[in-house]
Amino acid sequence: MKIAILSRRASLYSTSRLVEAAKARGHEVRVINPLRCYMNITSHRPSIHYNGEALESYDAVIPRIGASITFYGCAVVRQFEMMGVYPLNESVAITRSRDKLRSLQLLARKGIGLPVTGFAHSPDDIQDVIKMVGGAPLVIKLLEGTQGIGVVLAETEKAAESVIEAFLGLRANILVQEFIGEAGGSDIRCFVVGEKVVAAMKRTGKEGEFRSNLHRGGTAELIRITPEERSTAVRAAKVMGLNVAGVDILRSNHGPVVMEVNSSPGLEGIEQATGKDVAGMIIQFLEKNARPNRTGTRGRG
Ligand code: ADP
Repeated sequence: MKIAILSRRASLYSTSRLVEAAKARGHEVRVINPLRCYMNITSHRPSIHYNGEALESYDAVIPRIGASITFYGCAVVRQFEMMGVYPLNESVAITRSRDKLRSLQLLARKGIGLPVTGFAHSPDDIQDVIKMVGGAPLVIKLLEGTQGIGVVLAETEKAAESVIEAFLGLRANILVQEFIGEAGGSDIRCFVVGEKVVAAMKRTGKEGEFRSNLHRGGTAELIRITPEERSTAVRAAKVMGLNVAGVDILRSNHGPVVMEVNSSPGLEGIEQATGKDVAGMIIQFLEKNARPNRTGTRGRG
């Protein structure tokens, strides 16, 4: 196969592992910076140009689109889809997953376990929203945040009110969420490929930190997940329409709850914690599924 990896830097761990895994399995692979792709979007024969050259005859594209370039990156993935190139994850699914609010609404509709979550616009409704999600302690999240930034734990009702008021005053969109204290500062990252959880790790925040993000100094270890957690992760990825996803789960008193479904999950933490060749499994998935014109959307939607 001829595979394109859309990534801004070939030296990133995930990107270089995917290159290595593709080469090891005998494929031709190239790292392409999505921000340097340009295209004539009105041409009836869709194409993508890169450094003066037309990108042609690719069988599959692996999008590794960072949150800050979602809009442009997804336009490039969509153009590949219009050319009939098989995307590991489709552009619509990536766009969907980048909107935390929309994701939670979609997951809720399909009955996936979620932390009780509220959304409000007017400061006049703060007290009622706090009551609706069960009162303090609660977690307040900036919709635009990533890597744990903009996720605040408010331990008392008063603290919650003032933090929400401050965020709304800054015109920020926020989610107000039940605090799953029983998770003990840990969450579970389930790495889904196809319809399987191929690796799972437990991430724990550093002492005194409720956020378990590895970027915030958390540590990761191999974990055995329950069948319920496994099926929750697989269903969540499916609802989002993602072939490959990092599904973040909290162990709550009312069963596994999904916090987030990530469409470009990092490979470093999961490969190191589990010792598994996740990059190789992603390439194997492409070998099984990548066929010309096999994208669900071909750029529609
Ligand atoms: P980000 O997308 O910025 O990583 P998350 O929503 O994943 O934000 O939250 C960051 C971390 O905070 C999570 O990994 C988890 O450890 C913790 N956390 C988030 N929401 C809750 C919650 N409702 N209850 C308990 N812990 C939470």
